[in-house]
Amino acid sequence: MSRDWGSLFDVDTDPEDLLEHFDTEWFRGQRYRHLSDERHGIERGTALVGDVVVRGYPSMPRALVLEPAIRETFDGPVAIEEKLNGYNVRVARIDGDLLAFTRSGFVCPYTTRKVEALLDAETFFDDHPEHMLCGELVGPENPYTDHDYSEIEEVGFYVFGIRHRESGTPMGVERRLDRCATYGLDSVDHYGTFAPAAAVDAARERIDDLNARGREGVVLKSTDGETALKYTTSAIHRADLEHAFELPFDYGRDFVFTRVMREAFQAVERGESPAAVDERARELGEAILQPAVETIRAVDAGEPVGETHTVRGDPKTISDLLSYFRDQGLELHVERDETDGEQRVVTFTKVAQSTRDKTRYYLGGGTIDE
Ligand code: ATP
Ligand code: MG
Repeated sequence: MSRDWGSLFDVDTDPEDLLEHFDTEWFRGQRYRHLSDERHGIERGTALVGDVVVRGYPSMPRALVLEPAIRETFDGPVAIEEKLNGYNVRVARIDGDLLAFTRSGFVCPYTTRKVEALLDAETFFDDHPEHMLCGELVGPENPYTDHDYSEIEEVGFYVFGIRHRESGTPMGVERRLDRCATYGLDSVDHYGTFAPAAAVDAARERIDDLNARGREGVVLKSTDGETALKYTTSAIHRADLEHAFELPFDYGRDFVFTRVMREAFQAVERGESPAAVDERARELGEAILQPAVETIRAVDAGEPVGETHTVRGDPKTISDLLSYFRDQGLELHVERDETDGEQRVVTFTKVAQSTRDKTRYYLGGGTIDE
């Protein structure tokens, strides 16, 4: 092996065995590799750029019932943070350039340009050259998610982790918050650090407030940043279902069972009255059926169906983004393509082929064996 990615391979792993699972991609003429599925304990999204290893962001468990899950997961102080609903981005500085990696380890041309523009991270990386910033890219104008936050006009980047890029070791919560403040980096909201027993009530209060504001949920973390637990609001379960059933044959099946069970356990933990459960049931049903009906009508009317996003940026960044998606095999339908001063603003739909094709098939009299 010509390169030194030593930290990736433990004694039991054959380097060639692991490397063969990495896919090769290109960014600005440079070759890099990334791992799209977890292998040999190495996180999905781990990337290799030249000699540099950028570890993936680990996936975290979810609590269905807060009280016992907090008790079982933590034996010391628990930090509570807001869980933002956007997409996971890791930012590293490699050979002087900021690179932004998405969850599965692609260097996204759009996200890279956005973080260059949004972040003033040079001093941070001068002082911490071997670290990466892990954060959520959120806001109404981005190519992956569409959750609106009233405080964000276009996009924002909020740090929820600082990790050693090669080992993946997290910085402790207090130190990370301090680093964000020192270097002027936006951070996810931190609601305080509590003893495990007190964390239950604190998390419940936050969940009520976030739910009322249509926000996603909380992440609880041990103070060393190593252990994390997520828990989400009813509002986001419904929003996920609405999204999934806008594209029922692409996402419906995967989403429905998990979200219904999150709602069921939440209703039980909260000791809800029959009337409250009825209300939950009605809203849940609406979140499923209404978007599916609208989508079938749209296909019937010949309209494109899929996830629609608007992005703005310099013309080169936007054309790089559209090519990057097309290279990944996505079929795009451009709805609007305008210029706003120096910027190109494009609204496009990632065409949901299964939903379009299956819906057309049934509308045309196709039958199903079930
Ligand atoms: P995975 O856990 O594998 O990422 P997923 O895509 O279903 O699965 P989510 O359910 O969104 O992920 O939960 C984990 C993600 O939440 C993180 O990867 C991160 O992008 C996001 N996130 C938002 N806010 C925070 C936060 N405060 N701390 C950690 N992660 C956060
Ligand atoms: Mg998420």
